[in-house]
Amino acid sequence: MYMKAVLLKSLGERPSITDVEEPIERDGWIKLRILRSALCYRDILTYKGMFPQAKTPLILGHEFTGIVSGDYPEYGFSNGDQVLTLPYTYCGECEYCLTGRENLCRRREWYGEHIHGSHTEYILVKPQSIVKLDINIDPNYASIASCVIGMIINGIDNAGGVEEGDKVLVTGASGGVGIHALQIAKAYGAETIAVTRSEEKAKFIEEASPDHIIVGGEFAKEVKKLGGVDMVIESVGEPTFNQSLRSLKWGGRMVVIGNVNVKNVDLQLGLIILRQNSIYGTLSSTRKTLYKAIKLYRLGKLRAIGMEMKLTDFDKAVEKMESGESRGRIFLKP
Ligand SMILES: [Zn+2]
Ligand SMILES: [Zn+2]
Repeated sequence: MYMKAVLLKSLGERPSITDVEEPIERDGWIKLRILRSALCYRDILTYKGMFPQAKTPLILGHEFTGIVSGDYPEYGFSNGDQVLTLPYTYCGECEYCLTGRENLCRRREWYGEHIHGSHTEYILVKPQSIVKLDINIDPNYASIASCVIGMIINGIDNAGGVEEGDKVLVTGASGGVGIHALQIAKAYGAETIAVTRSEEKAKFIEEASPDHIIVGGEFAKEVKKLGGVDMVIESVGEPTFNQSLRSLKWGGRMVVIGNVNVKNVDLQLGLIILRQNSIYGTLSSTRKTLYKAIKLYRLGKLRAIGMEMKLTDFDKAVEKMESGESRGRIFLKP
């Protein structure tokens, strides 16, 4: 049996929709039928060769939800179960795995990077990467519960959390990370400030009901008029980094998630030392933050925002993301 897949033949090449053989069930793995697979900027960086450890030929994609195909009583999964997934497998034995930080496991393997990913119809996953759902979750939300929602929660938690009444600024607010970061900060009771580049994007951002929207690249001055912020969720990277740093209150925290152009930043150390500001990195999500993503969904505080496209329109989806035309996440339907 053949299935359609976004196949990368070698690093640096553009992947293409290709007919590949459906995966055959094997011990220690669970077969899923993909319901939704979201497009992440990491997919683009992967095929461009930014992660030289990626193994080709490779099916791209790591943000997905699916239905269990077959019965796996040894792992507690049955045919038809809908599951959420972590974007990687992990060893379960190292210092990181044993302390709930499996996202940092050095023996971790990413779907769509080391092993075949989800931009296709069927995938094999490790039982440790999936979580069974006991409620109905919108497949779009389920696909980004880990790499997007869980990742943002992980970043906020690492940076000491958000308290009710904190001011939180989100850059790249119309993007897949930004639009959901606004919702998460709001769910935690923050006053939210969205930054974007155009009026047209600002209109779209209203879907996440931020308290303020600032349009333009020089936003720090405007943010200072609002008193500065306790936290910035930096979903763009180098282009907005310095304005973000200058938007922080003294003692503020910046969570860096996006790295769109993979460029070095110019860091004025005085802004860190003399104002006691902190910068935090964040890498993916864990089972713990995935659980929190489900909890916030149950409470009705979060929803997936973006556009649905067909898996076979992968090329168009990439163009939309790269040209800045996409709004929110792009959810690919096989
Ligand atoms: Zn991702
Ligand atoms: Zn490990």
